[in-house]
Amino acid sequence: MSSDRPHVHGPTIDGQTRCIHYGTALDVIAIEFACCRRFYPCHLCHAADAGHAAEQWPVSQRAERAILCGVCGHRLTIDEYSSAGSCPACAAPFNPGCTLHWNLYFDA
Ligand SMILES: [Zn+2]
Ligand SMILES: [Zn+2]
Ligand SMILES: [Zn+2]
Repeated sequence: MSSDRPHVHGPTIDGQTRCIHYGTALDVIAIEFACCRRFYPCHLCHAADAGHAAEQWPVSQRAERAILCGVCGHRLTIDEYSSAGSCPACAAPFNPGCTLHWNLYFDA
């Protein structure tokens, strides 16, 4: 495990960024929030722990490596994540349901 892997905040339940809200086999990413630059597994974790409203990443910052693969620690840019069904480094499949929540994290 790489030492520069960012700390994931909130009520995680394992070392692959699953949380008390999203804990299926496919829930293996954490997202860096634009407002506080902290990684959380999901928007509910941020709401419970951060103490402020979440902000969304603007379209102009899609090159930020704001997505953490909880399996291998690889960081994807928002742009890469928008079209990735799995981790480009370790091939772990991502939850396709996350795209339903895209606008909680990113401006469309
Ligand atoms: Zn925040
Ligand atoms: Zn959560
Ligand atoms: Zn990975």
